[in-house]
Amino acid sequence: MNSFGAVETGGTKIKCLIGTSPDDIYSQATFPTTNPEETLAKVIDFFRLHLDESNIDLKAIGIASFGPLDLNPASETYGFITHTPKPGWQMTNVAGYLSDALAIPAYIDTDVNGAVLGEYAWGAGKNIENLVYLTVGTGIGGGALINGLPLHGLIHPEMGHMRIQHDWINDPFAGSCPFHGDCLEGMASGTAIEKRWGRKGEDLPDNHPAWRLEVYYLAQAIVNVVLIISPQRVIIGGGVMGNTDLYEMIRTQVKELLAGYVHARQILVGIDEFISAPGLGSQSGVLGALALAINRHSKK
Ligand code: ZN
Repeated sequence: MNSFGAVETGGTKIKCLIGTSPDDIYSQATFPTTNPEETLAKVIDFFRLHLDESNIDLKAIGIASFGPLDLNPASETYGFITHTPKPGWQMTNVAGYLSDALAIPAYIDTDVNGAVLGEYAWGAGKNIENLVYLTVGTGIGGGALINGLPLHGLIHPEMGHMRIQHDWINDPFAGSCPFHGDCLEGMASGTAIEKRWGRKGEDLPDNHPAWRLEVYYLAQAIVNVVLIISPQRVIIGGGVMGNTDLYEMIRTQVKELLAGYVHARQILVGIDEFISAPGLGSQSGVLGALALAINRHSKK
């Protein structure tokens, strides 16, 4: 049976699976992300365990990884995690290492491009060719699908670091991004919430002023994305969105900020669907890695 491997490398854990779709998962495992040698050895062991089984014919592996990544096929360091602040992971050739160890092709994209591919294949973005996935967790990242293909360009989108208006009157917090201070991630990530208020978002009550600021910053980000990319849907996932009240507040504020200028039915009357939660929950990334393996294998 033709099968595909999927790996999602996250900041704290790494997910692996073998299968062909969300309804056909043969095996799945999660490991903590430690140093690259130890972590990747566990991934290789997971796949090797199943490679010898006669009913599994693993054709390719897809990897959805934290970055920044080098996604330029002409580059000598193609497929590498490059100048990440994550200790020990700088210039790690994840795709090459797994491909060599398992002797099958390995394809890599960002974790958020993975998530957008997963949602496009099986989730809340089914058949929506121009799609954006924004994750709001410890950090913030965004992936974009343009005409059904993940956007790379110069390197790949870094939506988490877009500049937004800082509400200095209600928010004297300088921001948590080590590069930019008060960029989107510096103001609205889980890390920013915790640094600003001294408590994690999940421990703040629903009526806490944190949420009004959170909505203000995320709504600005989505407005920018809508104006620049013109996606047909924006999916927002990540741990901070565990506060599901945020969706409705963001939708209202996005409409207010757009002020009727973008005349699309999806925004004027369909914003409940236009801004939506992931259909695959926390599995968007690893299933996106699976979709990446299947897509790229079929185009060989
Ligand atoms: Zn930043």
